[in-house]
Amino acid sequence: MTFAPTFDANRTWMPDLHMHTIASDGLLSPRELVMRTKAQGVNLMAVTDHDTLNGLEDASIAAREAGIRLIPGIEITTQGEEEIHLLGYFVQKGNAGLDDLLAAIRHDRAEREPKFLRRLGEMGMPVTHEDLQIPDGTMFSRPLLAHAMTRLGYVQSVQDAFGRYLGVGKPAYIPRLHVPIEQAISILRRMRAVPVLAHPGLIRKPLDMLNTLLDGWVNAGLMGIEAFHPTHTQEACRYWEKAARNRGLLVTGGSDFHGLPDELHGEVGHMLTQWNNATQDAQALLDCATQTTG
Ligand SMILES: [Zn+2]
Ligand SMILES: [Zn+2]
Repeated sequence: MTFAPTFDANRTWMPDLHMHTIASDGLLSPRELVMRTKAQGVNLMAVTDHDTLNGLEDASIAAREAGIRLIPGIEITTQGEEEIHLLGYFVQKGNAGLDDLLAAIRHDRAEREPKFLRRLGEMGMPVTHEDLQIPDGTMFSRPLLAHAMTRLGYVQSVQDAFGRYLGVGKPAYIPRLHVPIEQAISILRRMRAVPVLAHPGLIRKPLDMLNTLLDGWVNAGLMGIEAFHPTHTQEACRYWEKAARNRGLLVTGGSDFHGLPDELHGEVGHMLTQWNNATQDAQALLDCATQTTG
């Protein structure tokens, strides 16, 4: 296999294309995240908060000051049979389609909190809004509720809370707003952003079914796959990298950094040890944006 690089061969990208700030459920401010990114030797970053663009302006100012290239991003919570996360790169505020979608998702999430609390109360496990200790600038989420339930002694751990009560289909689960992934893909494409499937290894479907779905999403406009993610084994990284390359899609990777590395989220730059073609792949994403927005 030969590469025909179209980029400046002297430029080595150290990308991390999936990170969260306090604008959603991360622990660091956009500026703190940029500092952390710089300290980790990463020179191309994407801020991809859940269903909000609110951290992007601060991040872009801080990144410019720090000499780091920033791709404004988003991680959209799509919801069909199961929740599937879609990354969007080169997004911006002021697009009615995206703004409306994100507002609807956030509204649904805000509505879910009282519904969850009512349901748990009926089940003899009262939790108040204050018990949730929602950090400033963030919103209700099941992990916050699971932490509260752990603190209140209703469950042993966050995993226990999800396994017995809060997981999809469990007795205290409240379904989300239906947001087909194809709809989110098409909104992103219409605004000339780049839709990329986040952490496919977390999608709980048989591989043959997932591959068929993937072909449909590619037809709907999906442009890339996040092959490198902390929840992917080395084997899974290779599998999804190949799945992307065979389809002529972009290959991306990121730590999914939230503030503290755990089993689902890495340290900034975490995936670079596995991502051999990071420079070429990152450049392909940058080029692709130039073409679609050019
Ligand atoms: Zn995700
Ligand atoms: Zn994420």
